[in-house]
Amino acid sequence: MKVAVLGAGVAGMAAAYYLWRDGHEVVVVDRRSGAALETSFGNAGGLCPSFAGPWAAPGMIGKVLKMALQREAPIRFSLSPNPRKLAWLARWVGNCNAERFRANKLRMQRVAHYSHACLKSLAASGLPVDFDYHEDGTLQVFRQASELKLVKGITQALDEYEVPWRFLEGDEVRAQEPALAASHAPIAGALYLPRDGSGDSHKFATCLAAYLAQQGVVFHYGARITALPSAGDRIEGVRIEGQSTPLTADAYVLALGPQAPFLLRPLGISLPIYPMKGYSITAPIHDPSRAPRAALMDEYNKVMISRLGDRVRAAGMAELKGYDANVDPGRVAFLKNVVREWFPQGVGIEEAQAWAGLRPMTPDGPAILGKTRYRNLYLDCGHGSNGWTQACGTGKIVADIVTGREPEVDLEGLTVDRYA
Ligand SMILES: Cc1cc2nc3c(=O)[nH]c(=O)nc-3n(C[C@H](O)[C@H](O)[C@H](O)COP(=O)(O)OP(=O)(O)OC[C@H]3O[C@@H](n4cnc5c(N)ncnc54)[C@H](O)[C@@H]3O)c2cc1C
Repeated sequence: MKVAVLGAGVAGMAAAYYLWRDGHEVVVVDRRSGAALETSFGNAGGLCPSFAGPWAAPGMIGKVLKMALQREAPIRFSLSPNPRKLAWLARWVGNCNAERFRANKLRMQRVAHYSHACLKSLAASGLPVDFDYHEDGTLQVFRQASELKLVKGITQALDEYEVPWRFLEGDEVRAQEPALAASHAPIAGALYLPRDGSGDSHKFATCLAAYLAQQGVVFHYGARITALPSAGDRIEGVRIEGQSTPLTADAYVLALGPQAPFLLRPLGISLPIYPMKGYSITAPIHDPSRAPRAALMDEYNKVMISRLGDRVRAAGMAELKGYDANVDPGRVAFLKNVVREWFPQGVGIEEAQAWAGLRPMTPDGPAILGKTRYRNLYLDCGHGSNGWTQACGTGKIVADIVTGREPEVDLEGLTVDRYA
């Protein structure tokens, strides 16, 4: 079967790999000049299934409203009354209760742990895919004693999903992460999650793309998709800007990240995906002994700092302000200060490259996967703030569905039907 994968972000590339592995003829279409040049380019690099959970949680509404009044708050909203944003927010509010949170978290955990296993098996398979992967865990650090009251709830959830953890006091934290010896940041305690890993999703996607191209997968880059013409219950092709004839295939996998709703709306499919902007900086490591090994999650600032090969990446912030991906220098300065506080030596913070990207957020949390009302159109989008962690799993699930196999993960609450 010929399958067109629309979008070469980390979600699309993972799907393309599993589809190719199933023996399909695969074509990949993306508007950019290569793979993973949008949201999958500069994320925090955290492969953290234990963190996978919805942003919609009990207490979040109050937290967001409080932060809206702070100048350097990690969360910001624009006040423009955009109907799509308002509809998204109304759904998000409806999911901020204990019952919905639990159901959504379970769904995301199901995909995230499955995905981690898929990624590890792909990384161990001998494919020439080097993405600075290492499994040194996550250190979720609490600066203030008052933050430690969060620990009980977090560890209860970790136990429920059988995720191993250790609570570390101040000195034990420094023993676990010797590079913190020079840190100026206060440490009240930390949760260490040994099974988590880190890796560069842009490198992963570009290596995978290069490998797949050698195997005969065809890549159409610089190809902006403008429409998906349909007839009855089938998609007839992919209309690409500047090309007179549509690209055709037997099946289409839509992995367009935050842009997915725009191509689906004319087909009568309404996806509640809205962009949540975040920022990152990437700086060279000058002294590896003074740079982090585990991914450090600064819980107070909601910033993750991870090691990607010979670089350190720090990422965070959440802005609900539409599709503008410009870099705000104030946010960059903030990220630099956070890194300086934790790792004052050994990281070339003045040489850092800044980036901003748009997380494709669903209001409830889980990604949107699988079949649509069109018999040959499949979804692989809405990966939100855990998309790198989930990409291999969602790619495998979607490839299984396209191929006609039962996915290894229960699809309850993961398809577009949940919004019907
Ligand atoms: C600051 C930040 C930190 C993050 N940290 C983490 C983390 O630590 N761990 C984690 O698991 N996740 C993290 N994420 C989330 C993760 O990066 C995303 O969920 C993931 O990259 C989404 O991948 P995607 O392939 O769905 O979307 P994208 O990477 O955006 O891919 C979509 C592709 O579609 C293409 N496209 C769009 N429209 C068109 C069109 N009309 N025609 C042709 N092509 C088109 C784009 O060019 C793009 O290549 C973070 C995100 C941000 C912003």
